Amino acid sequence: MRTNYCGTLSSQDLDQTVTLCGWVDRRRDHGGVIFIDLRDRTGIIQIVSDPQRTPQSYSDAESLRNEYVAKIIGRVSQRPPESLNPKIPTGEVEIYAEKIEILNSVNKQLPFQISTVDSESVKEESRLKYRYLDLRRSRMNQNLLLRHQVVKAMRRFLEDEYNFIEVETPILTRSTPEGARDYLVPSRVNLGSWYALPQSPQIFKQLLMVSGFDRYYQIARCFRDEDLRADRQPEFTQLDMEMSFMSQEEILDLNESLISYIFKTVKNIDLIRPFPRLTYADAMLRYGTDRPDTRFGLELVDVSEIVKDSGFKVFSGAIKSGGIVKILPIPGGNDLISNVRIKPGGDLFTKACEAGAKGIAFIRVKDDNQIETIGAIKDNLSAEQKETILNLTQAKPGHLLLFGAGDINTVNKSLDRLRLVIGEELGLIDSNKMNLLWITDFPMFEWNEDEKRLEALHHPFTAPNLEDINDLKTARAQAYDLVLNGIEIGGGSLRIYQRDIQEKVFQTIGLSMEEAINKFGFLLEAFEYGTPPHGGIAYGLDRLVMLLAGEDSIRNVIAFPKTQQASCLLTDAPATVDKKQLKELEVASTYKPPKKEEEN
Ligand code: ASP
Repeated sequence: MRTNYCGTLSSQDLDQTVTLCGWVDRRRDHGGVIFIDLRDRTGIIQIVSDPQRTPQSYSDAESLRNEYVAKIIGRVSQRPPESLNPKIPTGEVEIYAEKIEILNSVNKQLPFQISTVDSESVKEESRLKYRYLDLRRSRMNQNLLLRHQVVKAMRRFLEDEYNFIEVETPILTRSTPEGARDYLVPSRVNLGSWYALPQSPQIFKQLLMVSGFDRYYQIARCFRDEDLRADRQPEFTQLDMEMSFMSQEEILDLNESLISYIFKTVKNIDLIRPFPRLTYADAMLRYGTDRPDTRFGLELVDVSEIVKDSGFKVFSGAIKSGGIVKILPIPGGNDLISNVRIKPGGDLFTKACEAGAKGIAFIRVKDDNQIETIGAIKDNLSAEQKETILNLTQAKPGHLLLFGAGDINTVNKSLDRLRLVIGEELGLIDSNKMNLLWITDFPMFEWNEDEKRLEALHHPFTAPNLEDINDLKTARAQAYDLVLNGIEIGGGSLRIYQRDIQEKVFQTIGLSMEEAINKFGFLLEAFEYGTPPHGGIAYGLDRLVMLLAGEDSIRNVIAFPKTQQASCLLTDAPATVDKKQLKELEVASTYKPPKKEEEN
């Protein structure tokens, strides 16, 4: 039906007669000469029709409207000098339309303009409801193309260079613990039993190692029923990998090659290797987070030792009850940040409180290197303590020092937030930088306050560091995350491959032997039939593509995403189902819709 794509024609194709199919991006009538921008997924090309030169196509050209689907036959011609358009790749040529065939028209008013020249910003709600139209727009079109290129690069690298094979794993399965809630699917043929959708292919990929597949990957869909949080999707895609007989160093090295290959192939960016590394403990100490944005400094300083006996009860009290005191030093912060912003009601105060802090104490270093403090902190730090604080934070005149005091998590969380906001405000973040960073040596477990038990920080199949094996509760894990500009893009670990260690880990997270066997008996059994040492990693594909595309939401790199309320505005999913279907499944809903408020 067609000979060429619209966006690929250039002066190399001059004088060829081509047949093109696409959508009318725009139609302009210049006093008898009609110009049409015809668009397909590769771009747009200018079509010309007028009563003198192309009388056969003129009346059809007149009846074309935006987004009509048309087939156009014509000759590729050089544009006259005054109408060259260097902004588009086809800007040197145009097509005189010998024939225009309207393949389909638009019969309703378009919900929004689609044209590439239209920069109108459309509400996301409308874009998601009419996603098939939104995907015609060039931004989304390019994002999906980029996503495809990223996946293609992954496949080429893993399959062609490193012998990985892709294996599909089940979607209807048992619960795979990654720390979120499961999506459940009732079974009609096994009434009363439920499948869980996989939170990741974790267990299956480990079983593939038991089978000897050695190097596995999958572009895998994962499902996690998480609480509403910014920019999460109930289903998302991972590049999932697992390999046998490789040390942690070898795994990290292979993954650096993979990521460098992707950046080079799709963005022509040369990454510097090896990627820097930080242990979890160092990352928490210096940045207050396990995914620091290292494009800028503003590192935190722990001053607990110095202020532990100070008369300032907020500090000494925090440390007595097992907490810490840390400082976020801000060079030039005196001019930038007024007291109003740090005191109750101020924006920075509010930010810190949202992270659980009760307030922010602060010190300003004045021009004569004297320090100025406010409130109770004022009289309760000795000259020596002040001096040590200035030295430790390398504070100079003009510095503002913000203090966090309290339990470790709250202090880290609040100072991390302030660091990001202030780094941004001071213009310290170079958006052209691509800072990749490995975080290693995570703890095996963290305390779950609600359930009053330890839980696995990564997942319970992560291997402990052998040096720490005698005290599993505080052991470091052989786990690693890859962070890009402050966003976690991947994470993985070496795995446990011995039954006794796996049983101990289950015990530590409070799974009784009976529960462990009930849930993961098949895995424990598999470990007894000759399991190789193995490890792996998974990348969040959506996030990676989002960062490469310079987008700030993963919804912009997923063809048909859901809203933050986990619903699809296009198909209206999730939806109610027929009573008959529920009956067949022997499932009843106990949900009672809230009563509508009486109308006045
Ligand atoms: N299954 C893990 C996850 O989804 C990644 C891994 O350990 O390979 O986060």
